[in-house]
Amino acid sequence: MKSKPAPAAAGAPDPYFPNSGDHRYRVHRYELALDYRPGPNRLAGSARLSAVADAALAEFALDLAEFRIGRVLVDGRAARYTHRGGKLRIRPAKALAPGAAFTVEVHYAGNPRPVRSPWGGLGWEELTEGALVASQPVGAPSWFPCNDRPADKATYQIAVTTASPFTVVASGRLLTRTTKASSTTWVYEQSAPTPTYLVTVSVGHYRPVPLAVRPAVPQTGYVPERLAAAFARDFARQPEMAAYFGEVFGPYPFGEYAVVVADEELDVPVEAQGVATFGTNHLGGGWERERLIAHELAHQWFGNSVTIADWRHIWLNEGFAKYAEWLWSEHAGGPGAAVHAAAAHRLLAGLPQDLRLGDPGRKLMFDDRLYQRGGLVVHALRRALGEDAFFAMLRDWTGANRHGVVATADLRAHAARYTAVPLGPLFEAWLERPELPPAAD
Ligand SMILES: [Zn+2]
Repeated sequence: MKSKPAPAAAGAPDPYFPNSGDHRYRVHRYELALDYRPGPNRLAGSARLSAVADAALAEFALDLAEFRIGRVLVDGRAARYTHRGGKLRIRPAKALAPGAAFTVEVHYAGNPRPVRSPWGGLGWEELTEGALVASQPVGAPSWFPCNDRPADKATYQIAVTTASPFTVVASGRLLTRTTKASSTTWVYEQSAPTPTYLVTVSVGHYRPVPLAVRPAVPQTGYVPERLAAAFARDFARQPEMAAYFGEVFGPYPFGEYAVVVADEELDVPVEAQGVATFGTNHLGGGWERERLIAHELAHQWFGNSVTIADWRHIWLNEGFAKYAEWLWSEHAGGPGAAVHAAAAHRLLAGLPQDLRLGDPGRKLMFDDRLYQRGGLVVHALRRALGEDAFFAMLRDWTGANRHGVVATADLRAHAARYTAVPLGPLFEAWLERPELPPAAD
């Protein structure tokens, strides 16, 4: 197996979530075998992680919420551990040498519940009938033991056994579905490198609604039966959207795209690897809902394939996803990106200017101003570079960093290659200083 290069930011704790993750080792594969009972909301199973030590490790930590821990094995041998404050600290029988490949196996069980955060519950969420997972940014430990940092991307096999009437949707390709007695095991394989926060599972009473056969990448909705027709109508343009994004952002980075419509109202839709989860309130059509379809799809390039090294760089996800909404509007014959940019600028001009886009701080990382201003930087870049250079820059960015990890400095260096005009002043004004620069046009 080809070993992953250590990303530039690998050697430090996340500045916004210093308690999350352990930067002294990297995981390259997770194998989760989980049994879920929706009624009592009971999750039991095992996680097997294949990892590489970047330092000598007498002990190391995994992130895992409150579960009862059964066995913990390192390289097949029982290891000592402590489990408190969301950290599973493991002491292998024999210390790990720098560069050593090792496996960790954790058996655990309990009632998963969301991790509390300023943005509401994160991670595993029980529904009236079933469950869903929306972990961004630090909810993954609500359902599996992990090295919870976005830079540590890995492949996944996810096997979920549950009562047969339920459908299980997870990140990746469905390998097998096996029914024994009254339960069914669904095995998914995600072969693209995936950060923990983008790993998802949905359990519910869903009907598959295939959207497109013509594009190379299958698109399927998983929706409550009664909403199948509404979904087919409201998401009808998604294949065309994917084809357009494929032109401007480069080939779709994954093997499939699934849209789950959970049978609940959700505040916002949420992206996962090759999957997006919407609520019933996101059906009904109109620009405000169509822009969300574009936004979530665009995250497959910006965030999911090209992943941020740490959470300071969140605008690289949200700014480009916001701009994708405006590009889609322009392409689909609606208002052009310049019209959307002008509206965003007017909106921001009337709001407090205390957000530094390039390092917004944990409190403001999902503030709407970050999205709007993020879109505006991309628009300013388009104006500075001109059409041809801008779109070449965009495609090359997703191409060069496909399945990789990036920071804001990488984008600045990348964009500088597409113009003779120094971009430093543009980036400093938009990213480093809180006051709103003048509109690009
Ligand atoms: Zn987003």
